[in-house]
Amino acid sequence: MLTPHLQRDADGSLRYERLPLATIAERFGTPSYVYSRAAISENYRAYRDAFARAAPLICYAVKANSTLGVLALLAAEGAGFDIVSGGELQRVIAAGGDPARTIFSGVGKRRDEIELALAHGIRCFNVESEAELHRINEVALAHAIRARISFRINPDVDAKTHPYISTGLKSNKFGVAHADAVRLYTVAAAMRGIEVHGIECHIGSQITELSPYVDALRRLLALVDQLSARGIAVKHLDLGGGRGIRYQDETLVPMHQFAQAVEREMAGRALELVLEPGRSIVGDAGLLLTRVEYLKPGETKNFAIVDAAMNDLIRPTLYDAFHAVVPVVQRAEQAVCYDVVGPVCESGDWLAKARPLAIAQGDLLAVLCAGAYGMTMASNYNTRVRPCEVLIDGEHAHVIRERERFADLIAHERIVR
Ligand SMILES: *Cc1c(COP(=O)(O)O)cnc(C)c1O
Repeated sequence: MLTPHLQRDADGSLRYERLPLATIAERFGTPSYVYSRAAISENYRAYRDAFARAAPLICYAVKANSTLGVLALLAAEGAGFDIVSGGELQRVIAAGGDPARTIFSGVGKRRDEIELALAHGIRCFNVESEAELHRINEVALAHAIRARISFRINPDVDAKTHPYISTGLKSNKFGVAHADAVRLYTVAAAMRGIEVHGIECHIGSQITELSPYVDALRRLLALVDQLSARGIAVKHLDLGGGRGIRYQDETLVPMHQFAQAVEREMAGRALELVLEPGRSIVGDAGLLLTRVEYLKPGETKNFAIVDAAMNDLIRPTLYDAFHAVVPVVQRAEQAVCYDVVGPVCESGDWLAKARPLAIAQGDLLAVLCAGAYGMTMASNYNTRVRPCEVLIDGEHAHVIRERERFADLIAHERIVR
């Protein structure tokens, strides 16, 4: 199974939009992240079109892929942004995004980050604790302004996803307890530095089913009613992100069904809808291009050692995540079963396990669906420079981030003599 705009030509070689991946590797080297501009735009427009009736503010979750070239493309599409740090806000601004369409999430907002966000007039803070509410109120009062806030409600629904990426259960660090919400809104409504604006939840990631969203939405709407009975009006409802993608053979609830169900629940209410999709905008719109350095047959396993590693793409080892791995040029030989591993000195340095592949040393491989939580989670472990990022646009390839150099890695270090 290939991803949108990735095709295998008659000669057996992979092409992304109009460019052969082999050409990309020749021009820019490996490992490289390669994105399809058309795929990113289409993913964004799929939300916009399916939710045409509700006309939501679609706040792309920056942490999924925060490269300026990607943010600029989404800003041009009209997206808002969901950020989790002052750094991400600065990225949004540098890319030409609109702070007034930006929402600030995250459990540990520092005072300086709150100040920065207020100075730029962001749309809303998603508040995740009572202590944070007090801090935002203080900072806003010190600047003689009101900060717009939503509470992130922990609706205690099971998103039925991997425990590391499920965030809507009582046991998670995220959000405020559903049972505590009315009290907290009452506290917030009495604060002079706070303007109650919305209500939010984000229940997890890589969610493939509809029911967790509907359950969470109903719980939020019931809270909206309780609040309105107490004279607290909420203007927007933010359903968070978390929509899954097809990494392997997942069946996803179709976008139009998702939209229909959400719009049906919200019908007749004067509530603006906000969404915070990350993975579902960029995940299947990018791949990691890597080259086979060595084939190493073993007693119990065969290893394909490639030039990309866990520091470039940590999802497999961190979440036990599956990424399809496909040869860029097909060979006629019989496939052999390989673990695809990197050069990093960790047993956990693997990208794929037990994959039948017909490959030889020097061949190129594409690790699919690597557009989200790929480059943003990359590190320099083992003093490896992070890959370059290339945005394909039809027959053009743009480097949107250069490959790091060794000098970049040591730029901030000092030797004490
Ligand atoms: C990570 C995150 C998102 C995006 O999640 P995806 O699974 O990538 O769609 C949205 N909102 C918040 C608050 C997040 O932390």
